Amino acid sequence: MPGYVGFANLPNQVHRKSVKKGFEFTLMVVGESGLGKTTLVNSIFLTNLYPNRKVPDAADKIEQTLSIETSTVEIEERGVKLRLTVVDTPGFGDSIKNTDCFKSIIGYIDCQFEKYLTDESGLNRRNIVDNRVHCCFYFINPACHGLKMLDIAFMKAVHHKVNIVPVIAKADTLTKAECLRLKKRVLAEIEQHGIQMYTLPDCDEDEDDDYKEQCAQLKAAVPFAVVGSTQVIEVRGRKVRGRMYPWGVVEVENPEHSDFIKLRTMLITHMQDLQEVTQEIHYENFRSEKLAESGGTAIRKLRLNRGSVDIEDGKLSDKEKELAEKEAELKKMQQMLSKMQAQMQMTKTVGSSRPPLPGNLANSSGAPPLPTSPPATNGRASRSHNS
Ligand code: GDP
Repeated sequence: MPGYVGFANLPNQVHRKSVKKGFEFTLMVVGESGLGKTTLVNSIFLTNLYPNRKVPDAADKIEQTLSIETSTVEIEERGVKLRLTVVDTPGFGDSIKNTDCFKSIIGYIDCQFEKYLTDESGLNRRNIVDNRVHCCFYFINPACHGLKMLDIAFMKAVHHKVNIVPVIAKADTLTKAECLRLKKRVLAEIEQHGIQMYTLPDCDEDEDDDYKEQCAQLKAAVPFAVVGSTQVIEVRGRKVRGRMYPWGVVEVENPEHSDFIKLRTMLITHMQDLQEVTQEIHYENFRSEKLAESGGTAIRKLRLNRGSVDIEDGKLSDKEKELAEKEAELKKMQQMLSKMQAQMQMTKTVGSSRPPLPGNLANSSGAPPLPTSPPATNGRASRSHNS
């Protein structure tokens, strides 16, 4: 409502701020060559992420080791900007000896965490570019009768570092019954080997029924059996994206043909949750491991520092001490600002008949805006993703 000032405006402030800042998301795709990773990513984001892609021939593959290729695109939809980075892993599972091929992937994920940790300890903490991997689509070969040793070994090696979303590739090569059987088998093997894949958060009781229904459908579809294509085909007067075969057309976006729409919905509607889990579970795990390397006490103390800023001497490094002091200073300044703002509000409301608004929320006086704390998270305590 124009002219309305009250704390019901808070979500708008958060919204405006987020839109202005834009969003960053990093998606990693892993799986054997030829399973349709590139096609799927291009289908999801309707963009050509790899215009200069060179597919290696058999001779190249003999020499090939796994490489990591990143492509970043800026996508804008109705004024909302998304900086999307797709990390491809060509060469995965291609060599004769594949046992170690995921080491570079782990190295890449850790390297992004390390960069973030370094940036966080720096002075310009507000403008950190977040390149941490928020989600990993793991492509499963539809021609196998379940997971391969490599699939299990890879997922087990990274499940405490990244949100794994298992995807059955080229679902059009399976009949409905085969697809269901493969899904069941994959799920059973994931459970049997104790692999923690990304699970969608539970819906709150007060969510509307459509949303609850959508979440239930998405959960039931895991592992998503997908078909990818960037080709547009005309079917009975309708233009659809699909794959044309002599016996008919497989429509990528038809829920009867593939889980493509479900996978895309999951990714887009739960982007924020994927980022939260990355921050609160995977990154925190990495951070604790790093701190543990420099002595057990440091972990407890730094964790304490997140809630309160008590500086305790002991085994804290100079950098951590500096960080804690800065946090203490910032907290003091925030308190001073709140006091000043409350006083200004009081003097303003004495002259007017309008009743005063609660504390900091009455930020209509032209006083400098208070640093907002991040929005409350939706209680992740139930996830046990710790390593
Ligand atoms: P990548 O090596 O994993 O990136 O695989 P590509 O995206 O390059 O695809 C390899 C081949 O599989 C290409 O000929 C694609 O046209 C084909 N392909 C991609 N997606 C699908 C799919 O969903 N079903 C079928 N049958 N073929 C696909």
